[in-house]
Amino acid sequence: PRQFFVGGNFKMNGNIDTIKSIVKHLNDAKCDPNTEVVIAPPALYLLLTREHLRPGIEVAAQNVFDKPNGAFTGEISVAQLKDSNITWTLLGHSERRVILQESDQFVASKTKTAIDGGIGVILCCGETLEQREAEKTVDVVTSQLSAVASQVKDWSKIVVAYEPIWAIGTGKVASTEQAQDVHAAIREWMGKELGKEAAEKTRIIYGGSVSEKNCKELAKAEDIDGFLVGGASLKPAFVDIINAKA
Ligand code: 13P
Repeated sequence: PRQFFVGGNFKMNGNIDTIKSIVKHLNDAKCDPNTEVVIAPPALYLLLTREHLRPGIEVAAQNVFDKPNGAFTGEISVAQLKDSNITWTLLGHSERRVILQESDQFVASKTKTAIDGGIGVILCCGETLEQREAEKTVDVVTSQLSAVASQVKDWSKIVVAYEPIWAIGTGKVASTEQAQDVHAAIREWMGKELGKEAAEKTRIIYGGSVSEKNCKELAKAEDIDGFLVGGASLKPAFVDIINAKA
């Protein structure tokens, strides 16, 4: 069985006070011990978060660069994350793919650098509404993942986050059936491209308007192994999402 995984993506939200209070709330909360929990604050607050957060909950960056060091103004390396006890990074979030125009190849290169450097990657993929309506969802998602598969063979430290762009921050959550169908298609693709073991073991989590209200229903689906939570991860109800399976 795959361990349930819940990530909190704070995006560009929060300040020292609010992040400290989110961390305190998590430290004091009763979290399902069977759920792996990782939170991703803005880079500026990674160290503060790691310093205050209790052991057992991990911290992720929202991005990392694909070079070891050097003249790359504004970027952060895998070694710098590890030096700061930051053990995960998000990569390929649609906001970076769309707003910062990151290509599949760039996401793949950064994923390779992170995995080779020994940190975990929450690898995001997902389609636009237009692509869904054109019935291209599975093609889009599997080609985003194929770019990574051509550079990374060991997926044991990758968690795939399926985040349909039309569901992000819109309050329009995918139905359990819509999400399950794509997760199953991703798992089938993994079986073919990465082998049976990777297909069985890799967590595929859902993101896009997950809330304390809809998480329990989504969590029942066979191939939904957790969530990547945006807006709700900034609220006390994040704990209810962590406990969706409890
Ligand atoms: P929301 O939960 O705010 O829809 O955001 C989802 C997301 O993009 C998480 O990475």
